[in-house]
Amino acid sequence: MSARDRLRIAIQKSGRLNDASIDLLARCGLRFRRSRDRLFCFGETLPVDLLLVRDDDVPGMIAEGVCDLGIVGRNVLREQILGRQGSAGAASFREIRSLGFGHCRLSLAVPDGFDYVGPVELSNLRIATSYPGLLADWLRRSSVDARIVSLSGSVEIAPRLGTADCICDLVSSGATLAANQLKEVAVILESEAVLAASAVLPVDRRRELIDMLLRRIDGVIQVRVSKLVLWQSPRASLDAITRLLPNGQRPTVTPIEGLDNQVSAQAICNDAITWQHLEDMKRAGARQMLVLPVEQMLT
Ligand code: ATP
Ligand code: ZN
Repeated sequence: MSARDRLRIAIQKSGRLNDASIDLLARCGLRFRRSRDRLFCFGETLPVDLLLVRDDDVPGMIAEGVCDLGIVGRNVLREQILGRQGSAGAASFREIRSLGFGHCRLSLAVPDGFDYVGPVELSNLRIATSYPGLLADWLRRSSVDARIVSLSGSVEIAPRLGTADCICDLVSSGATLAANQLKEVAVILESEAVLAASAVLPVDRRRELIDMLLRRIDGVIQVRVSKLVLWQSPRASLDAITRLLPNGQRPTVTPIEGLDNQVSAQAICNDAITWQHLEDMKRAGARQMLVLPVEQMLT
């Protein structure tokens, strides 16, 4: 098989996205053999190979055609899309799926004592960030004129060092901000890991592989929240109970031997089920409720 017949996916070599990226691909049935330099992994189950790179290099590898797909934070992807707009034309890569891990947000944070009411407070201030493109775009949309101080790391200490008045950085728990006497005041971008692809997908064998991988990824993401719900109830209560299922499909219904008007029902729910849902179902006439995890799904 020639090299062009094999799909190449770029993922982060080490860091916050590495484990979850490999786990996602494993759940899609992909197994890899690592090369000695550990930068290239040969796909053993399908003609799909991996390239292990720095997350910042993922979009560029797609743009240059070195890879067909990549897993990267939306923050990095959007920043590079903004960076490539303008003189060089539009970026040649885009987000095709959000992957449900690596959640964080790009937020504006100000010193604890700063009395922030709205973006207008930022006028003429210096904001330190590693995301100058996303920040500039947000400032423009908020009609604010501020000075962007581009830093490649350690953004959170800039206010203490006096090199900036506030910051725009990635936040997940907020612990780093608190440790640096900063508070989050505005979210600029909600981010998570995404699947990125070339703006124009290949038309050869790789296209089928991409379609198949997308189907499997959709299935993997779906089963994370999907549950199979089983219950018994009077037939007359079925509609009311079904309406309570979070993003539920129509139930499969079977009569119960020896009990007139009583049925056993099962339905897939595509959103998380809470105790509250079960209490509500019980009130609507359901009993013997069971919530089961779904192992695999292909629709
Ligand atoms: P590399 O060596 O590959 O350049 P990095 O240091 O730039 O790694 P990581 O810190 O591993 O990158 O973060 C990778 C991605 O993880 C981020 O771009 C972001 O999308 C996501 N992420 C999730 N939570 C956080 C967080 N609290 N801080 C930073 N990034 C986070
Ligand atoms: Zn990086």
